[in-house]
Amino acid sequence: MKYALVTGGSRGLGRAICLRLAKMGIPVVINYQSNVAAAEEVKALVEAEGVSAELACFDVRDKVAVDAALERWEEIHPDDYIAYLVNNAGIRKDGMMFMMPERDWHDVLEVTLDGFFNVTRYLLPKMMMRKHGGRIVNMASLSGLKGMPGQANYSAAKAALIGATKALAQEVAARDVTVNAVAPGFIETDMTKDLPQEELKKLIPSRRFGRPEEVAALVGFLLSDEASYITGEVISINGGLYT
Ligand code: NAP
Repeated sequence: MKYALVTGGSRGLGRAICLRLAKMGIPVVINYQSNVAAAEEVKALVEAEGVSAELACFDVRDKVAVDAALERWEEIHPDDYIAYLVNNAGIRKDGMMFMMPERDWHDVLEVTLDGFFNVTRYLLPKMMMRKHGGRIVNMASLSGLKGMPGQANYSAAKAALIGATKALAQEVAARDVTVNAVAPGFIETDMTKDLPQEELKKLIPSRRFGRPEEVAALVGFLLSDEASYITGEVISINGGLYT
């Protein structure tokens, strides 16, 4: 059986993606770092759709923890494998670079980039071996395409994730594995709740923040069989902000 793993599946975009996967009938492993109540809620909502859901608590930065969690999962699931991976876990630690604490630089890069590497590196060999429609979607950002002042760390991390997406897509295409990135603009989640929404909305051509479900629909398409010839792409979803 083919499973999906969504990192940062407990809240925001990850939560909406888990619910989308449930609608697609794909069993889902919901990763989270600390918010067990939120993760339990997502699990219950997926199960309410009649789809199996499991929790996997680990910090994507921590290679030992990632390996241990995924090894444990494989032991319990000898006949299953993770065919769909959504590298969604991410954090923001904004600040002008001339005052940015070193830790804020590293934290953002580590969650986005080391997180992507640790989880993807572990799952790739099996995905490639099966030659059966493996799918990887990486959650980038408009910030990684355009660069945003006050987000040198975040823009750098997301731009690097886009580079890795394009490189990896070419490495694994012949094994029927696609690798794409999604680049949202401003979406209504916990991550953006401290931003001045009314001011920012004036800059967005569609005059509103996006909804997590809208991003999840795009991710769902990229994970589907219909998207099997799309790889190495970065798809923006931003209400016209970038264009
Ligand atoms: P969010 O509401 O803050 O949720 C973040 C999720 O990531 C939570 O599930 C959190 O788990 C998890 N997480 C954070 N650090 C982790 C770690 N080290 N290991 C494992 N899980 C970790 O964020 P969001 O807005 O949904 O963002 C999701 C992704 O979309 C991020 O990569 C973000 O950069 C990207 N994005 C968001 C927007 C936006 O406007 N919201 C725009 C562009 C890109 P816990 O619940 O356990 O804390």
